[in-house]
Amino acid sequence: MRKSVANPINPAQRLNDAPRCHAKAKSTGERCKGPAVTGWAVCRVHGAGGGAPRGQAHWNWKHGERSIEAVELRRMVNELARMARAEGEAISCANAQ
Ligand SMILES: [Zn+2]
Repeated sequence: MRKSVANPINPAQRLNDAPRCHAKAKSTGERCKGPAVTGWAVCRVHGAGGGAPRGQAHWNWKHGERSIEAVELRRMVNELARMARAEGEAISCANAQ
């Protein structure tokens, strides 16, 4: 059986011990003191659970050629082509001498 972490003297202690929001005020530079939402670094006011859905669930999805995976794949292929070209030039330069 799991031992309860609740403090019988001060039941609200677990609320005070909750991880805090990482947001900082522009004007004062002070950190937000709100509790962070589980799985997020910020509180509900500062954007936890926010943001547009990824992939096909996004409302601007057209064909996927600009998706993170497709762009990453293109970048990798271009890098490999660049490396192969550089290697080919090095070989042709070595043969010329
Ligand atoms: Zn906050």
